[in-house]
Amino acid sequence: MSIALDLDHHAHPDRPRSGRTSLVGLMKPELRDTLMGIGLDEREAKMRASQLWNWIYHNGVTDFDRMTNIQKGFRQKLADSFLLDRPEIVSEQISIDGTRKWLFRFRDPRNPLLPPVEVETVYIPEEDRGTLCVSSQVGCTLTCSFCHTGTQKLVRNLTAGEILGQILMARERLGDFPGGVRPNDGGLVPAPRGSGGSEGDSRAITNVVMMGMGEPLYNYDNVKQALLIASDEAGISLSKRRITLSTSGVVPFIEPTGREIGVMLAISLHAVRDELRDMLVPINKKYPLKELIQACRDYPGLSNARRITFEYVMLKDINDSDADARELVRLLAGIPAKINLIPFNPWPGTNYDCSSSSRIERFADIVNNAGYASPVRTPRGRDIFAACGQLKSETERLTKKERDALTA
Ligand code: SF4
Repeated sequence: MSIALDLDHHAHPDRPRSGRTSLVGLMKPELRDTLMGIGLDEREAKMRASQLWNWIYHNGVTDFDRMTNIQKGFRQKLADSFLLDRPEIVSEQISIDGTRKWLFRFRDPRNPLLPPVEVETVYIPEEDRGTLCVSSQVGCTLTCSFCHTGTQKLVRNLTAGEILGQILMARERLGDFPGGVRPNDGGLVPAPRGSGGSEGDSRAITNVVMMGMGEPLYNYDNVKQALLIASDEAGISLSKRRITLSTSGVVPFIEPTGREIGVMLAISLHAVRDELRDMLVPINKKYPLKELIQACRDYPGLSNARRITFEYVMLKDINDSDADARELVRLLAGIPAKINLIPFNPWPGTNYDCSSSSRIERFADIVNNAGYASPVRTPRGRDIFAACGQLKSETERLTKKERDALTA
């Protein structure tokens, strides 16, 4: 059972008017330059950029009028020139297990005349942590055959501001900003605020995973910018060890991810032979297992304390044999790794079935006995289609003719 809340009235009342840009998602130097664009000298722009950063990311403010350390006249000038845009919440569903799924709606910041796009974002609360699963694209160019998102064509990449917008909106709903109030609607959150420990311990969102809709490394620049902002200590301040980027294997961007972003890496592996992986994760035809595994061995910062997570969806009679488990162990030998076994989460129209529990156990035993931690991921939010591989939105790509007609 799940309940669905109609939250359309939470929609952002202040839609983009032409000429106003959103400040959410700009790096500090860009924010400074943008402020210099409305007449501030460099020194003041730098100081104001720090103030705004704190208000936007630490305090979660969306209204310039609440920025009490900025004079009224200048607050008005900011409001006339800029937005602190967040997505609209189209719907929020809460699973019987406390998982929460939002459908967020964004307008194209460069062209508000185009129809909005929608993505799903999922919050998975556990006793000691709360994980937000964030989307990077609307739809996906890849067609992993076990994944529901893969049946939705890519509509467009999300901007850095839209990726951050999911985190900011989720923090708002979960009462994670200073002075925020936890929702009291049956959804779970980890330890309540002020229940002891550091502020980090009492946050509803302690971890972020880039595992929602889309392939994050096909939107590298925006994902990088969003994650660098999310991990900045003066703002949202998420530790990079609590941010995981999951890729299906875009090999050329794996090394830059470690060097330039420095977050934890997860690989959607799912098969240990090229013939099978070509079918399950078709990007394998471009970057086969040998290249992918080498890129993992070379991942900057890799150590026993910073392991790579290999995700392996358990598909009945497809990839779940003892021989597959042994080959998995052989393939990953020498890589500090954790193997996440994911019981397949069905979605409408799929041809796959989930492996039986005894098969999953046997597979996990082989992997465990080889010395790898291999937790079997408990499916979360299946009743609201929020589980791994089940996300999808209704947004469809416009034809060029349709786009031209709307933007003419
Ligand atoms: S698993 Fe990831 S990369 Fe593959 S189709 Fe689904 S969203 Fe795209």
